[in-house]
Amino acid sequence: MQYVSTRAAASAAASSSQQFSDILLGGLAVDGGLFLPTAYPQVTGAELDAWRQLSYADLAFEILKKFATDIPEADLRALTAKTYTKEVYKNARKGEKASQITPLRVLEEGENGTRLVLQALSNGPTLAFKDMAMQLLGNLFEYTLAKQNAQLNIFGATSGDTGSAAEYAMRGKQGIRVFMLSPHKKMSAFQTAQMFSLQDPNIFNIAIEGVFDDAQDMVKAVSNDLPFKAKQKIGTVNSINWARVVAQVVYYFRGYLSATTSNDQKVSFTVPSGNFGNICAGHIARMMGLPIDKLVAATNENDVLDEFFRTGVYRVRKSSETYHTSSPSMDISKASNFERFIYDLVGRDGDRTRALFQKVETHGGFDLSGKPGADGDEFKLVAKYGFKSGKSTHDDRLNTIRDVADDYGIVIDTHTADGIKVARENLEPGVTMIVLETALAAKFNETILDALGEDAERPEGFENIEDLPQKFVVMPPDVEKMKAYIATNTGL
Ligand SMILES: *Cc1c(COP(=O)(O)O)cnc(C)c1O
Repeated sequence: MQYVSTRAAASAAASSSQQFSDILLGGLAVDGGLFLPTAYPQVTGAELDAWRQLSYADLAFEILKKFATDIPEADLRALTAKTYTKEVYKNARKGEKASQITPLRVLEEGENGTRLVLQALSNGPTLAFKDMAMQLLGNLFEYTLAKQNAQLNIFGATSGDTGSAAEYAMRGKQGIRVFMLSPHKKMSAFQTAQMFSLQDPNIFNIAIEGVFDDAQDMVKAVSNDLPFKAKQKIGTVNSINWARVVAQVVYYFRGYLSATTSNDQKVSFTVPSGNFGNICAGHIARMMGLPIDKLVAATNENDVLDEFFRTGVYRVRKSSETYHTSSPSMDISKASNFERFIYDLVGRDGDRTRALFQKVETHGGFDLSGKPGADGDEFKLVAKYGFKSGKSTHDDRLNTIRDVADDYGIVIDTHTADGIKVARENLEPGVTMIVLETALAAKFNETILDALGEDAERPEGFENIEDLPQKFVVMPPDVEKMKAYIATNTGL
């Protein structure tokens, strides 16, 4: 399996292709594009039938081996077996089986043949779906670095979910250190405790005196110093990482196969979306031949994606136009994985994709509506890929959390509430609608308290997390000081 950049010129595509292990530790391609396979591997009906009975770990192996053809199969099987265990995904609710890793729960079977189902993706160590991919990434990184006798220093900024998922995936891993910046005193007490209570010597929590953007700017400034970056072996684990996307493909298969008894049955997915990483994995599963009917992107007030799927216009937002909402992990100004879908939509034309995303830089977006003056007319092909969308606001979120508690007796988090709200608008007779649950309510307790007047239940072991001793340093937003701190602690 070979990979190409979404911006590769047609003439260069074949010669510049790389294998899975080559792109595992990197981010963007050198031309600024994102990596995708030269062709999506296909699954047959017979494979799907055989896979219906597999454990999550075995299913992950079957799917990953189609993408990571340069990793010996026995090694890959050991890696997936180690990653997807009921000990790691132990935070299942009552009535869910932890051993299923992403258990399904039927919320409602309508008289008109509609069916609404929740797929729990947030039973891992940090109570958010990012664990699904990040836990595998931790094991893949450790395996690959050991083979190359290399080391990697992960450097990033977080306002919550991504940083903690990365730290819990990389803690105690050989050859890996994590330097994670966060805005000092700006995260919730729960999120702060989750990260700062880690005592592992390879985890470095750095609270920056400033807001998230200051922390983000520090990461950019340090990463722009290429000699420093090379010497200190600095890498990232952001959402455009290809292995993260691939790991997420697995739970679409698991969801479809668990919800059906034959491959003629129809299933759609509604996905709470921000950077388009999660739903991009659904698109890839569908391109591989998984019979997904619709892929519905649910956004919050930051509706860049909903706007595109309604109008064909992709218009990124300025930071002054980006809202801080009660589903904060979806507060994005642009969707960093969207380029992968656009590449497919424009017929896998790298020159065209490059031109469109250069226009995003120079003009803030592009228009594929086909109207006079537009940049293209490919919006008319979107339906062929199954995509639909919808939007949810703070009031919708509160109402949905209440409705779901009243009607089905479970408490959902704010991002999942955006998903349920939009899913309900897209139910169809004869089609199972699976909503991906992207976090557990305990992580966003403030809004749960507003909606229900009581605290969200915390999984076992999280009761007194705020009281645990915390390990972190506080630093001013000073690039030179940051570099010195990194160098001291890597010893490079
Ligand atoms: C990251 C995140 C999302 C958005 O996922 P994308 O892959 O960026 O679309 C949604 N919900 C939660 C809880 C998240 O942490």
